[in-house]
Amino acid sequence: MNLLQKCSLAVLGFVLLQGCATKTVWYRGNTHAHTVICGHADSPPEVVTQWYHDRGYHFLILSEHNHFIDPDSVAMPQNLRDDFILIPGEEISGPKVVHSTAMNIEKLVMPDKSLDEKSHIIQNHVDITTEAKGKSILNHPNYRYAISEEDVLPVHGLNMFELYNGHPLVANSGDEEHISTEELWDNLLTRGMQIYGVSSDDAHYFVTIDSAHSNPGRGWVMVNSNELSGHAITQAMNQGSFYASNGVMLKTCSAIKGKYSVQVDVEQTLGELMSPELRGKRVKATKPGFRIEYIGQNGHVLATIEGTHADYPLKRASHYVRPRISYFRDHPTGGSEAFFAWGQPVFTDERLSE
Ligand SMILES: [Zn+2]
Ligand SMILES: [Zn+2]
Repeated sequence: MNLLQKCSLAVLGFVLLQGCATKTVWYRGNTHAHTVICGHADSPPEVVTQWYHDRGYHFLILSEHNHFIDPDSVAMPQNLRDDFILIPGEEISGPKVVHSTAMNIEKLVMPDKSLDEKSHIIQNHVDITTEAKGKSILNHPNYRYAISEEDVLPVHGLNMFELYNGHPLVANSGDEEHISTEELWDNLLTRGMQIYGVSSDDAHYFVTIDSAHSNPGRGWVMVNSNELSGHAITQAMNQGSFYASNGVMLKTCSAIKGKYSVQVDVEQTLGELMSPELRGKRVKATKPGFRIEYIGQNGHVLATIEGTHADYPLKRASHYVRPRISYFRDHPTGGSEAFFAWGQPVFTDERLSE
């Protein structure tokens, strides 16, 4: 029984488990970064590793296209902290722009390039990742709008996807003809999937820093795990014990004692927002400050709180509830820009016990 299952049971009133009380120890990581090995990035594995190490990250996956970088082959920083690790992985890059991060695999995995249907291609990625003892993250569904809801729904064993990808060519917000990745998420959750949203950099350029390049430091995850190891972090994420961020930092984001509680870390958020790498979402003029929303079935906003702390009673949720935390600030050229943290859905139906 995983953490969320325990929480769901507690929500349903069958049992109240102390085990739901998560420690607020957060490990910061990026699951998606490239190196010169792919031929279209500017830094070797050691420089990429040093970048994340020096900025306080706790874990990193060097996720090269169909190429396995063994962490033991990478020279670690001379000033290596004892709370930083490389998690082995790869970006499986199949036909039809279907890419996925194979997280914590033990060896190179290669996709079946003869497959034609996207749902079969995604399933193949999940299967070969599982065979190599890892977990799958479906990457950038809105890159060239390659992946639709119908491509993902038939897939078994997929519990994570990139809700936010920092590459400038990835249209996370969609356009007039395509839904955003957040709408895709709610559609999948509404239709019964247990799927969690990841935020990543997909970084390629560590020397040239500007809005046209895929730079590091734009999207990350904060994982609540009882230890820092490839296995523990991967298991925690695959069970939804993390939040995704592209700027907003939290002290609390957990469903315990029948409510989903969120507490913003204001000081840390304001520090993060000074980073030149961050890219906000342009929105219409909005009063500066924090907003916490709880979102449920069909993407409906169940509650909105203007502030830095909120609780939502789980018994009021139908099927699932997830918090979205926004920070708005004025944009120098007019209007506002928004940065987010996305908490993972907690399920109040029976989907986790299947
Ligand atoms: Zn990719
Ligand atoms: Zn990539």
